[in-house]
Amino acid sequence: MGQCPPRSSGITEAFKADSFREKINLGVGAYRDDRGKPYVLPSVKTAEKKVVESNLDKEYAGITGVPAFTKAAAVLAYGAGSDAIKNDRIAVTQSISGTGALRIGGEFLARFYPSSKKIFIPTPSWANHNAVFKDSGLEVVKYKYYNKNTIGLDFDGMVEDLKAAPEGSIILLHACAHNPTGIDPSREQWKQISDVMKGKKHYPFFDMAYQGFASGDTEGDAFPVRHFQSKGHQFCLAQSFAKNMGLYGERVGAFSICCESAEEKSRVDSQLKILVRPLYSNPPVHGARIASEVLNNPELNQQWLKEVKGMAERIISMRALLKENIEALGSKHDWSHITSQIGMFAYTGLKPEQMDQLAQEHSVYATKDGRISVAGITTGNVKRLAEAIHKVTS
Ligand code: PLP
Repeated sequence: MGQCPPRSSGITEAFKADSFREKINLGVGAYRDDRGKPYVLPSVKTAEKKVVESNLDKEYAGITGVPAFTKAAAVLAYGAGSDAIKNDRIAVTQSISGTGALRIGGEFLARFYPSSKKIFIPTPSWANHNAVFKDSGLEVVKYKYYNKNTIGLDFDGMVEDLKAAPEGSIILLHACAHNPTGIDPSREQWKQISDVMKGKKHYPFFDMAYQGFASGDTEGDAFPVRHFQSKGHQFCLAQSFAKNMGLYGERVGAFSICCESAEEKSRVDSQLKILVRPLYSNPPVHGARIASEVLNNPELNQQWLKEVKGMAERIISMRALLKENIEALGSKHDWSHITSQIGMFAYTGLKPEQMDQLAQEHSVYATKDGRISVAGITTGNVKRLAEAIHKVTS
């Protein structure tokens, strides 16, 4: 799979080359059902059928994409009742999925943000963040995030780094289901992060690639974005519909900026158009039309919310099953982080040599940093996986 190039592409090659029938691939950055198969959401299938049947033409979209889609995407993230939506303060453009949204954001800030050309990202962060922002013309700096001793959040370290960053710095925040650690701040901690950032006049850049996919609740997962909005921050947001709608290859996303006023929003709209036009003129329409149908058709929307919940719940139950199975084998280690983490990925705390051992001796493939894709776990392979993890950690 190409989700997290280049690291997981090597894993896929090694996995393919292994002839063992019970081999397990935990390097994939995409959801799998309990038979280990890709999943096309029934709501998405129905929406696509409706789009095809409506026999629309294939004319170009405007520079900022399909308006019915971008409007609904903004409502999904910010909330219909938010002040920013009600007062028309959100400048939004369709993007080539989440990566494209991050890139537009990087380019926008590199060109127009006056205070700083540095972006602070967590350690660790999604493997592509560094390259996306560097290629946008920003300097990438790290802030503390992960505490390897507790396999949890280094909240004090994070706050310390946010306080130490020069006033007006750009700070990248994973809105939910932090990739690769699966460790998110609590709501109380998000409130403190918001206060610290407000005090330092930092500029938040939210990456929300997993709305709904983390907890099963699209509203709950959007808490940080909505909280920052309610506290009067101005910020930008990258949204992806790859995971929560399973639209990976359709490349459906949105980039938005929560502006101070409707007047500022219309100026930002023009700046976004100036930026997007020479990049790709205008975005593809098919996936955006599907997502728009899913978001705007009340019946399909209800169905989709249940299906997102279903995916999140399968992941959550696989976490519990993995922990249970390892503990049943008599492991002396504390595996509570497996269930306290959230989203598609679990950060096991396994060392690179243990990950090598998993691959070489047990045909279990995942990235060397100890990250496993919980989506690759099934009721059929969890027992063997637990045994393999137990063996390499005892
Ligand atoms: N941001 C994070 C944190 C991710 O994990 C991913 C995908 O794995 C993305 C952004 C971008 O995904 P896409 O471009 O497929 O929407």
